[in-house]
Amino acid sequence: MFRRILIANRGEIALRILRACKELGIETVAVYSEADRNALHLRYADDTVCIGPPPSRQSYLDIPSLIAAAEIGDVEAIHPGYGFLSENAHFVEVCQSCNIKFIGPSPESIALVGDKVAARELAKKADVPTVPGSDGPVETEAEATAIARTIGYPVLIKAAAGGGGRGMRVAHNEPSLLNGYHQARAEAESAFKNPTVYIEKYVERPRHVEIQILGDQHGNLVHLGERDCSLQRRHQKLLEESPCLVLDENTRLAMGAAAVRIAKAAGYYSAGTVEFLLDREGNFYFIEVNSRIQVEHPVTESVTGMDLIQAMIRIAAGERMNLRQEDITWSGHAIEFRINAEDPDQGFKPSPGTITGFVAPAGPGVRWDSHAYQGYTVPPYYDSMVGKLIVHRRDRRSAIATARRALEEMVVEGIQTTIPLFRKIIDHSDFMSGEVDTGFIERYFTPR
Ligand code: ADP
Repeated sequence: MFRRILIANRGEIALRILRACKELGIETVAVYSEADRNALHLRYADDTVCIGPPPSRQSYLDIPSLIAAAEIGDVEAIHPGYGFLSENAHFVEVCQSCNIKFIGPSPESIALVGDKVAARELAKKADVPTVPGSDGPVETEAEATAIARTIGYPVLIKAAAGGGGRGMRVAHNEPSLLNGYHQARAEAESAFKNPTVYIEKYVERPRHVEIQILGDQHGNLVHLGERDCSLQRRHQKLLEESPCLVLDENTRLAMGAAAVRIAKAAGYYSAGTVEFLLDREGNFYFIEVNSRIQVEHPVTESVTGMDLIQAMIRIAAGERMNLRQEDITWSGHAIEFRINAEDPDQGFKPSPGTITGFVAPAGPGVRWDSHAYQGYTVPPYYDSMVGKLIVHRRDRRSAIATARRALEEMVVEGIQTTIPLFRKIIDHSDFMSGEVDTGFIERYFTPR
């Protein structure tokens, strides 16, 4: 097992990784930008290293600074968390060449699934249904219009290197397709330095259902069930839950098996997620693989009783999993709420600033993963998440009741947050009956 690990991230996930290290008896080195001098996890780390000025390009994304910190800190491994360098195959190679273990999959798997066009091919080869669409990248206007005519409108233009909902455009007819095609390419070029796009049928009112996978470096690979992440705004998740209410047992089994086939085809190890869309007829289609730990991993931890971060660390150290698919059991219902420093009444405008009053949610059935505290200033430079409220109860009704109580109790003053929005969502009749799809938030909770 590792003696010392560097945490190449910030915010709640840095604290989450630190907690896993403590429980495993591993020392930690925390890094921070000048904007994060007062970060909570720095208090608990064995060593801290400043890696640069606030902009992430010059700190959390700066590979030479991180490697220098790892060398000064004398660590054996790096956990990347999510975002930043977590899905950067080049970073993994640099770590390897410096004799530092990367706590995640191999650079080959990351590169393979990080190209969504290649990942679609992989899914097809693994006999997993994909959304109807182009066979590869779409390189000309003529190709785009031909494919759209074949599969029928509406279609979605997506960036091959996409993430975070960027480089994605819906088109309902030919003029909007041509427009969207150029917009998506330009956005993909500026966000990912790669203008490649492809086209998929736009699935109407789908649910987003994803499967957590976990594999070791000895060929053992299992899935840990599903998460329903249909509550999204602009293709960004806001609330996730497990189990998915509408999944029948056969579909659940088929999706789990499909996720495992894709992961095996990619030679995947560590934690990962295979994302699917579930249409209104109950058909599922592969959309992408995320080769990192995800924000919503606590939902799966709650219902399986497993610790995914600890598992990732053990796997990176070369341990065998000793876990068969039939050993995994699920209990109860878990829901996660992303508490963001955003104003839902002002188009979700970011609301950085100092938290002047703060009471954390607690009590039975409540988990609170957060780096926030009274007096903490949310910096404007990074994503706006200040914490995740996770509730876990024996069934969905009780989980919602616990969530309602926890959302009422918690206090975050001085900044605007998504708490008032969640208080409304959980009382919405469609949410209560589980009648949701990826358009739910835009339909009911976006001011027009
Ligand atoms: P990103 O990597 O940018 O997050 P994804 O491929 O994971 O992109 O898609 C993000 C979200 O966009 C999905 O959860 C879903 O809401 C929506 N989406 C993606 N593909 C489709 C599709 N073909 N039809 C309808 N919605 C889609």
